[in-house]
Amino acid sequence: MSKKLNPKDLVSRLEMVLQKNDEIVPLHEPLFTGNEWTYVKNCLDTGWVSSVGKYVDLFEQKLVQYTGVNYAIAVVNGTAALHICLKLIGVEQGDEVLLPALTFVATANAVHYCGAIPHFIDSEYESLGIHPSKLADYLAEITEMKNGVCYNKKTMRPIKAVIAVHTFGHSVDLDPLLDICQKYRLELIEDAAESLGSYYKKQHTGNFGKVSALSFNGNKIITTGGGGAILTNDVNIALQAKHITTTAKLPHRWSFNHDHVGYNYRLPNINAAIGCAQLEQIEHYIQSKRALAKKYEKAFASVKGISFFKEPNYARSNYWLNCLLLDKHFVDSRESLLQATHDKGILTRPAWTLMNKLPMNQNCPRMDLSVAESLEQRMINIPSSVNLGGYGG
Ligand SMILES: *Cc1c(COP(=O)(O)O)cnc(C)c1O
Repeated sequence: MSKKLNPKDLVSRLEMVLQKNDEIVPLHEPLFTGNEWTYVKNCLDTGWVSSVGKYVDLFEQKLVQYTGVNYAIAVVNGTAALHICLKLIGVEQGDEVLLPALTFVATANAVHYCGAIPHFIDSEYESLGIHPSKLADYLAEITEMKNGVCYNKKTMRPIKAVIAVHTFGHSVDLDPLLDICQKYRLELIEDAAESLGSYYKKQHTGNFGKVSALSFNGNKIITTGGGGAILTNDVNIALQAKHITTTAKLPHRWSFNHDHVGYNYRLPNINAAIGCAQLEQIEHYIQSKRALAKKYEKAFASVKGISFFKEPNYARSNYWLNCLLLDKHFVDSRESLLQATHDKGILTRPAWTLMNKLPMNQNCPRMDLSVAESLEQRMINIPSSVNLGGYGG
C-alpha cells in the first residue's frame, strides 16, 4: 500500500520561503535591472543590430573572463551550440554519442542533427548527472577497441563522444568521467547550458570538455532573449567554430566565398548587448540564488518524505533551478503536490520525460536506467528566479 504526503505541508513551506502575496510565482523569470536598456538602445541608435557589432565581441570576451575558458563563440541558442560542438569534434552520420537519459530534449536533438545515434546512460543521485562508475562497468561490457576507436559490440557502430549535462547547475563528477573518456578515446562535451557560474572543484564548468555549450534562453541564469555559446580551450577548434557558425565565409572585403556548408548561427548584436548587461550582474545573481537555496534547504530540513537537493560536495553550484526529491515511498503523491502548488499560484514542475521514452528515441540504445527512472518520478522543480533570493527587488 502506498502512503501519501499532505500537499499542505509542501505549500506552507514554499509560502514561507517565498513570502508570497497574491501574485503568481513563476518557476524562473528573468530580471532586467542593469544596463540592458542602455545597451539595447545603443544598438538601435547606431544601427548595429545584427550579427556584426561591438557587443558580440565584448560578450565573448566577458564570457572568457568569467569562465576562465580560453575561447567563447556566441551563437543563436544553446541547441545550436551543442550541434556545432558535435560537428567540431567530428561526430558523423552513424556514430553513437553517449548522453544521459535525464536531460532536456535539446541534448539528444543535437545528436540527431548530425545523423548520429543517441545512446542513453544512467544518472547518479549525488549529482543528478552521469553515473561514472556505472558507465565504466557498462562500457567494459559492451564495447571493444579497434585501431584506437571505441565500438559498440552489439551495433558495430563507433562511439565517439560523451555529453555530460550539469543538471540544474550541479556539476557532474568530472574526474572519473575524464578517466573513462581517456580510456575509451571518447571526446567529452559539456552541456553547460544550466551551469554558468557553477564550479567543479576549483574550476568553472565548461573547462573540462574538448568543447562545451552554454545557453542564454529566457529561463537560464542569464539571458540574451535567445542565445548560446561554444566554449573551448583549443585555438583551432575556436577558429573553426567561428567560421562554420558564420556561413563559412572566407574573409574578403567584397567577395562572397565559402569553403564549407556553413551555418547562420551567430548571435545578433542586440542579444549580445543584453548579455553584456546580464553578465555584469552575474555575481549578484549567484549570491541571490545560493541564498534562496539555503532558505529552501532550511525550510525542508524537517519535512517528512521530501528532501531538498543540495550541491555535490566537490561542486559549487549556481542553483539555477531548485529541486525537491520525494522519498521513494511517496512517488504517488507527486501529482497532488503539483496540483496543490499550482492552485496556490506557485508554479512547480516535474522532471523532463526521459529521452528514451520520446517517440524519436525509442529505438536508440540504452543501458539500465534505474536511477534516472527513479529520479524522474521523484523530482519537483520549485520557483528559482533571481529576485526570490533578494537581489533586484
Ligand atoms: C536550455 C538547455 C539547452 C538548450 O538551450 P536553448 O538555448 O534553449 O537552445 C540544452 N541543454 C540543456 C540541459 C538545457 O537546459
